[in-house]
Parts: sequence; C-alpha cells; structure tokens
Amino acid sequence: MSNQPEQKPSSKSLKKDLYEAPDYYWIDELLTDEHKLVRDSVRAWVKKEVSPIIEDYAQRAEFPKVLITGLADIGAFGPTIPAKYGGAGLDYISYGLMMQEIERGDSGIRSTASVQGSLVMFPIYAYGSEEQKRKYLPKLASGEWIGCFGLTEPDYGSDPSSMVTHFEDKGDHYLLNGAKMWISNSPFAQLAVVWAKNESGEIQALIVERGMKGFTTPEIHNKWSLRASASGEAVFDNVKVPKDNILPNIKGIKGPLSCLNQARYGIAWGALGAAMDCYDTALRYSKERIQFGRPIGGFQLQQKKLAEMITEITKAQLLVWRLGVLKNENRATPAQISMAKRNSVETALNVAREARQILGGMGITGEYPIMRHMMNLESVVTYEGTHDIHLLITGMDITGLNAFG
Ligand SMILES: Cc1cc2nc3c(=O)[nH]c(=O)nc-3n(C[C@H](O)[C@H](O)[C@H](O)COP(=O)(O)OP(=O)(O)OC[C@H]3O[C@@H](n4cnc5c(N)ncnc54)[C@H](O)[C@@H]3O)c2cc1C
Repeated sequence: MSNQPEQKPSSKSLKKDLYEAPDYYWIDELLTDEHKLVRDSVRAWVKKEVSPIIEDYAQRAEFPKVLITGLADIGAFGPTIPAKYGGAGLDYISYGLMMQEIERGDSGIRSTASVQGSLVMFPIYAYGSEEQKRKYLPKLASGEWIGCFGLTEPDYGSDPSSMVTHFEDKGDHYLLNGAKMWISNSPFAQLAVVWAKNESGEIQALIVERGMKGFTTPEIHNKWSLRASASGEAVFDNVKVPKDNILPNIKGIKGPLSCLNQARYGIAWGALGAAMDCYDTALRYSKERIQFGRPIGGFQLQQKKLAEMITEITKAQLLVWRLGVLKNENRATPAQISMAKRNSVETALNVAREARQILGGMGITGEYPIMRHMMNLESVVTYEGTHDIHLLITGMDITGLNAFG
C-alpha cells in the first residue's frame, strides 16, 4: 500500500446513518439464517465504518484506504472463494447480499470489493496453478495486497476482443506491451490481472506485479462519478513478465467474460443497495418535510414517486434472489445475469432521480446520500457492459441473432 498519509474527516463532518432497509414482500423469509447473519453484519459494518466518512472522501475524490482491513474482515474480498485460500467460502446469495449492503454505503467501495473478489481472485482461483493460488489468494483475501483487472483499452471498451495489448515469448520471460484504460484500483494496486494477446492472437491473462520495470498506473482525475474509488490506466512498456505469471488454464475471450459474469452478478445486487438507500432517505424526508402545512409525503404526486420506487425495488429484489438460487445451482446463464445487472442499475438510477426530486434543493447536497449514489450509478450503468450492450445480449439470447456488429 502507498505510505502517503490519509486525511481523516473531521468529527463535524461525520454522518449519522438512519437507514432502515425496505422489504415490502418479506423477502427475508426466503433467506437462510446464514444469509441474514452475513447481511446484518455487513449492514452494521457499513453503518459504523462507511456511512460516517464516505461523503467526505467522495467530496475529496479519494479512496478511503482506511476501509480495506474492514472489507477483508467482513469477507468481502473473495466471498465465494474457499476458506483454504483465505476466502469466505459463502454461497452466491450471501455474496449478493454483501454487495447490496456495501453499495448501500457507496458504489465505489463495492467496486473495490467486486474487482478484488470477482475480477482478480476469481480468475486466479478458476484458471491459476495451485502455486499461483497459494501465492496470491491469501494476500488478496486479507487485503494485504489489492489487485486490479485490465481488460478495457483506450480504443476498445465494449469490444474487448479487438484489444491490441500483446505479449511475446522471449524464452525465459514474456514481453508485454500495451495500455489499459479505466482500471479500478490501478493507481495503488500491488498486482494486475492483465488480458493480452499471445503471438497467435489468443487472449490470455498475465499477473503483473507493481515494481516490474515498464509497468505504470497513472490515475484518472476529474471524475464526477465513483469519486471514492481510484481509477487509472495500466501501461506496459516492454514489461518482462516471468513465465510463472501466466494463468495456465484459460485462453480466449471467455476468460475475461467469465470474470465479468461474476462481477455483474454482484452488481445486480449491489445497485439495489444504492436504490434502497435512496428510497429510504426519500421516504423519511417525505414524512418530515412540511410544505403547505403538511408533510410532503401526504401529497399524491410524492406518493406516486414513492409507491413506484418501492414497486420497482421489490421486483428487482425478487429477480436477484431468483438469480442467486440459479447461481448456487450453477444454472444461471450469462444472459440472465445481463438482464439482472441492467434491470437493477436502471431501477437504481430511476429511484435515485425521483428520490432527489422528493428532497427538493436538499437533494443536491452532500447532507444526504442521493446525489452521490446517482452520480456513482452513471459509472455502474456503463462499466461491466453498458446498459445497451446488456440489452443486446438479451436480444441475441431470445432471437438467436447477433445485433452487435
Ligand atoms: C469508473 C469506471 C471504472 C471501470 N473499471 C474498469 C476496470 O476495473 N477494468 C476494466 O477493464 N474496465 C473498467 N471500466 C471500463 C468499462 O468496462 C467500459 O467503460 C465499458 O465497457 C464501456 O466501454 P467504453 O467506455 O469504451 O464505451 P464504448 O464501448 O465506446 O461505448 C460507447 C457507447 O456506444 C455503445 N455501443 C458500443 N457498441 C455498440 C453496439 N455494438 N451496438 C450499440 N451500441 C453500442 C455503448 O453502449 C455506449 O453507449 C471502468 C469504467 C468506468 C467508467
């Protein structure tokens, strides 16, 4: 980790968190005791550790490194990775609930957990050698090391198969050249799982460690979204990567896509956490804010907004719960995951926009979490497959016809 001192928020700026989770259809009854335990402990951690400081870090556009140990302690780094490699060994509904609760706090913090667990630990676990698993997974699970995932390039976002980053076999090492863009956590990550083409044009993954000559990670500044998450480039200028650092058991675009499936599944749950926070905030505000001599929640127009919000949230909660059951049974298809990711993020964005209106002018301030969630969701609707790309995946799945290219 960087040794730069972290500026702590003043006690005056610490926020009180009054969150009460909406559960209109008693979905709690569909959860096991273990699910509820995981959910409640992450919820308590977010209230205690994330909510009081997150607005301040977001305003300063800084990732709160102070949360890394806590994220590791609640099992957010590799929730489904077996305990023998340091993971939490949980099922997919627990993983989803964890992402829901973390994103209720902030999408940027959930992004860090998603990248670490689904995009860095998962490929090492699924496609790495036993030696690689033992070397990297425990360090990543404990948060001692933070990883990043390099797929997107400046000229290839929705179309990652066309990537130009490549490596050559130089006998005793691989020589890696190219550049990745929009890489979450890259500015301070100790390692990167980098997808690049071999000399035959096949996509493979290399583990690149900080300190390897020619590997740099300039930070991307001036973001209005995911301000509490660090995004950067990952640049490879004749980087000599040891041969031991290639993931031996995967070739082709299905490698990165399988990682994205894991992460998109988490986002489908996570975005609902942001939606639930916006709804809860707006509901409470509507009962307290008096205009024309009565609470604004008593006006039909505000009730319409709130009623539609909870309807959409409830539909999406049921969708992700069912997806979790399918995932536990190893039956969830990539297209089903796309549908849920797209639906949850769209729901969350709509809820955030309506909630913002219910709060009137106060809705645009950092006194409440809504504007931060709304801005964050503009990244969430774009990364891990854009809103339109997920629609095209559903379209292709139901018609059998490819409308991409
Ligand atoms: C904050 C943030 C963090 C990120 N973190 C990571 C990370 O950690 N690792 C990583 O590898 N990447 C990361 N990304 C990159 C992200 O996955 C890409 O931004 C995303 O895939 C879209 O690519 P693009 O931005 O190049 O948009 P483009 O692909 O250029 O798309 C632009 C627009 O064109 C549309 N479009 C593209 N193709 C089609 C088509 N065939 N038909 C119809 N419409 C189309 C898209 O839907 C979109 O609306 C991150 C992005 C952001 C913003």
